[in-house]
Amino acid sequence: MNETASLRARAEIDLAALRANVRVLRERAAGAQLMAVVKSDGYGHGAVPCARAARAAGATWLGTATPHEALALRAAGLDGRIMCWLWTPGGPWREAVEAGIDVSAGAMWALREAVAAARSAGRPARVQLKADTGLGRGGCQPADWPELVGAARDAERAGHLRITGLWSHFACADEPGHPSIAAQLDVYRDMVAYAEKEGVEPEVRHMANSPATLTIPEAHFDLVRTGIAMYGISPAPELGTSAELGLRPVMTLSASVALVKDAPAGHGVSYGHHYTTPADTTLGLIPVGYADGVPRHASGSGPVLVGGKVRTVAGRVAMDQFVVDLGGDRPEAGAEAVLFGPGDMGEPTAQDWAEAAGTIAYEIVTRIGARVPRVHVNETPDETAGGVPR
Ligand SMILES: *Cc1c(COP(=O)(O)O)cnc(C)c1O
Repeated sequence: MNETASLRARAEIDLAALRANVRVLRERAAGAQLMAVVKSDGYGHGAVPCARAARAAGATWLGTATPHEALALRAAGLDGRIMCWLWTPGGPWREAVEAGIDVSAGAMWALREAVAAARSAGRPARVQLKADTGLGRGGCQPADWPELVGAARDAERAGHLRITGLWSHFACADEPGHPSIAAQLDVYRDMVAYAEKEGVEPEVRHMANSPATLTIPEAHFDLVRTGIAMYGISPAPELGTSAELGLRPVMTLSASVALVKDAPAGHGVSYGHHYTTPADTTLGLIPVGYADGVPRHASGSGPVLVGGKVRTVAGRVAMDQFVVDLGGDRPEAGAEAVLFGPGDMGEPTAQDWAEAAGTIAYEIVTRIGARVPRVHVNETPDETAGGVPR
């Protein structure tokens, strides 16, 4: 009945679930604004539909890593606040300033690019200063902060930019009680206090990603930046399952069984023959592989729901396909195989695949390949009419 059911594979994206997750996160961070992080094509879920859904549920900011991702949101008609943080010299600074996108600067070279872009665009840049409070990745070290803040304030007084934000990022927010959390908060408060003493009046101060939003209330400040939790996935299993956190996974990855056939005992399966049928059995061919983002590291371990039973990848995951041992069951070719979803119909979750592949669920969803169509459902908010999001 569902026309997309005939597709080889599909990633169904439940936007009602995404909106509900945004509402849950807004409640968890009441008093702060919410930035919907839609980098990397919305963690593989489709940036533009997810951004629209997040906005409909009250996200006032959108966040991306690269400026091209941010510009694509503007081009798709998303207005309001958008921020991007992963800049390189020679990037589209001028385009970002013209599009009213908040840019991030954690070094003097970036500030110079922002000022030059503002001059040529003929309007002030919106610049957020990034502090390295201990992550040791992007951002300005405390020792270099006075120089960066001083130069930014000079440029602000000259009318070239407005310092709209002071922000940082945690190293270990997914490990509650890790000593780096309190240490980073202390450094952040000091760096903010210094900038404010120098006359900076930021619109937003922010540090929290999903795990900090869920577990570190004192890190909420003016804005929380949520990615993975908005897509319904727990940032770390130790923090609780999606359900325990009140979140619902947004993506369901499924495929149509391409072939079911009998195979005798002792038959090698897939490249390298790392699986051998233990008895006469039936084999099912699932037409997705590592080119579609099914991790090759989950060879011999990834779970799939086929014909009401969870089966395990038999042998290696190939580029375009893998095999499951159906143990004598004979689902029809074309039957649905669900690799992961919310989990309430007995299907595995992205977290199960992460464990099978020795990685984190972030990597499972973000790596689903471009060859897999995203099918967005429940695009229109209707819950306000009293309906229950399905
Ligand atoms: C990706 C990212 C986030 C979102 O992280 P989640 O753990 O997915 O919520 C927040 N801030 C920055 C700077 C990021 O790069």
